Amino acid sequence: MSDNILNTSIEYLKGVGPLRAEILKKEIQVYTFSDLLYYYPFRYVDKSKFYKVSELNSDLAYVQLKGYIDNVKTIGDKRIIRMTARFRDESGDIELVWFNGFKWLKDKFLYGQQYIIFGKPTLFNGKYNISHPDVELPVDENTDIVFNLQSFYNSSEKLKVKGLDSKGISKLQKNLLTILQGKIIESLSAEVINNLKLISREEALLNIHFPVNHEMLKKAEIRLKFEEFFFIQLKLLKLKIIRTSKYNGHTFSKVGDYFNDFYNKHLPFTLTNAQKKVIKEIRYDIGSGKQMNRLLQGDVGSGKTIVALMCMLIAIDNGYQSCIMAPTEILAKQHFNTISKLLQKTNVTVELLTGSTKKAQRKKLFSELESGELHILIGTHALIEDTVQFKNLGFTVIDEQHRFGVSQRARLWKKNNIPPHVLVMTATPIPRTLAMTLYGDLDISVIDELPPGRKAIKTIHFYDSDRLRVFGFMKKQIQEGRQIYVVYPLINESETLDLKFLMEGYDAIVREFPLPDYAVSIVHGQMKANEKDYEMQRFVKGETNILVATTVIEVGVDVPNASVMVIENAERFGLSQLHQLRGRVGRGADQSYCILMTTYKLTSDGKKRIETMVKTTDGFEIAEADLRLRGPGDIEGTQQSGILDLKLADIVKDEKLLLYSRKVAIEILEKDPQLEKPENRQIAYHLNEMNKEKANWSRIS
Ligand code: ADP
Ligand code: MG
Repeated sequence: MSDNILNTSIEYLKGVGPLRAEILKKEIQVYTFSDLLYYYPFRYVDKSKFYKVSELNSDLAYVQLKGYIDNVKTIGDKRIIRMTARFRDESGDIELVWFNGFKWLKDKFLYGQQYIIFGKPTLFNGKYNISHPDVELPVDENTDIVFNLQSFYNSSEKLKVKGLDSKGISKLQKNLLTILQGKIIESLSAEVINNLKLISREEALLNIHFPVNHEMLKKAEIRLKFEEFFFIQLKLLKLKIIRTSKYNGHTFSKVGDYFNDFYNKHLPFTLTNAQKKVIKEIRYDIGSGKQMNRLLQGDVGSGKTIVALMCMLIAIDNGYQSCIMAPTEILAKQHFNTISKLLQKTNVTVELLTGSTKKAQRKKLFSELESGELHILIGTHALIEDTVQFKNLGFTVIDEQHRFGVSQRARLWKKNNIPPHVLVMTATPIPRTLAMTLYGDLDISVIDELPPGRKAIKTIHFYDSDRLRVFGFMKKQIQEGRQIYVVYPLINESETLDLKFLMEGYDAIVREFPLPDYAVSIVHGQMKANEKDYEMQRFVKGETNILVATTVIEVGVDVPNASVMVIENAERFGLSQLHQLRGRVGRGADQSYCILMTTYKLTSDGKKRIETMVKTTDGFEIAEADLRLRGPGDIEGTQQSGILDLKLADIVKDEKLLLYSRKVAIEILEKDPQLEKPENRQIAYHLNEMNKEKANWSRIS
């Protein structure tokens, strides 16, 4: 196959050899021809534009000038430390500076010869200079191949030493593209290419490295970005097809007494339309005979728990057991309490299993689990241990998905011959585009409506110097019977420092809010589980007015009477974390407040985060802002996925193209799910090649 040439070791490319190959591998992970081909420029500079010296200003990144060089001088006595020269055109002159590599340059310049120089101007002592400019002779006006857009590649010191600066890499690209001419296989079908008016793959790759003009560069980018998105979508959607065709699921055909009894007699409120819609979606899935793998997104407080519970009741109606896995002991307990309370007057059985469950209790619980007596098991990681054996696990709920690794989820999965239906719940709203890229093979449900009667939380930003006003406000709220959270960041520099910081804050609060008028709880990561629990319970029961804590309370804690969330050093938290924290209040009928305390020294990102929080309570809007500020690579859970290995495409900026590529992928797979038709041969071939490259690609859930 001619495509094999792409797998050739980079060593064998003209201009490389073993030494340079070693450096290319180490420095920029270029092992093969293909790696180099996909090592795209990071910038293009328009070389058809010439500036005049008089036009220079500090805003210009790179400029190209045409003129004369003279006054070459070396500075330094025994050891020459730099070389300077004067560059002039008809509008003025600037200085050129070299700090190394000037030995062979020194006598090279011919006075009276016109040169083209290129570089970044900087202002020094009121005069512009350019250090280490590129110097060239003017291109002969008669040669016809003039690339007016010059590509720039990222290089490194070690590469530069071996002559592989941007220009050197560009030369290698030229050599490579010469060999590859006519050998780059098209990866898309003629139909897709025609419908989208794309240029060919070969043309795109040629133009991404050596653009003929702006227009072709644009076309090359569109073509290659589309391809990146398209094959990711195809891969994910194909996984979904495989999963739903190969993996049979339990069929929960009926809705029986457990569900109906609960719905009619014990449901403490009316479900929101969004909750009803999601239950319907899940009911359809679990009745279909295919295994369900569904991501349930719903903002904090949107009522995901009840949805999960009702679905578990359907499983029980069909003779199956269910479980809920939560990321922390506190959250598992909270779920256990909520669900036991809801099921109090039913004969559904629920148990809790965590790391601190006692041996005797464990034993009892395991035997009930194996006999099938136990309907619902709620717990932490402890659930995935091999000793935990269900009689017939049919439905699994995973809460706060991003805290679990892929492999942990896979282990839960393997507890039966037929895998249980999986509902992954997350309160970290993932922007639609990211969800599509990351979870393209999962179905997605969204609860996009909060239960009625909630008052929007008021969010206010205060500087540390306003602390007395904040204390005053807190006292007023406590007088009205409300409770307050005060949260400190985990800075992670050092646990002892973090703790010191927290304890100082705690001391200040205890001084301001002394006994017997006030009571303050404290919870942090270094306390023993039972101490933590004790302090937490005092707050939950209303015995203390203030809970001082680190982010352990971020997830799950539900105290409806708590109406104020004070976040200290708010600028140190990420947006999604701030949003999670804020979600701890606003659960009761009272007006709730989120107070963001910061220092005066805010970075521009920090400022934007605070502004976003003050402006909106919409989790999805916040997630979008977060994505914009941090980039997808930093969003929790994405690093491990390896899916966002996008070279050109940007899921925020190129959202339209992403949606479009998904649509195209769906259309193709609908007509030809196995990609067997002749017209899709190229697509199938390319997908296969990609899979070979990344054999470790695995299912997300
Ligand atoms: P989350 O989606 O954050 O897990 P929860 O399931 O904890 O939200 O629900 C938040 C609160 O809202 C709980 O106190 C729950 O009882 C209540 N709740 C859920 N659904 C409704 C509803 N339809 N009407 C009124 N209250 C509801
Ligand atoms: Mg929850």
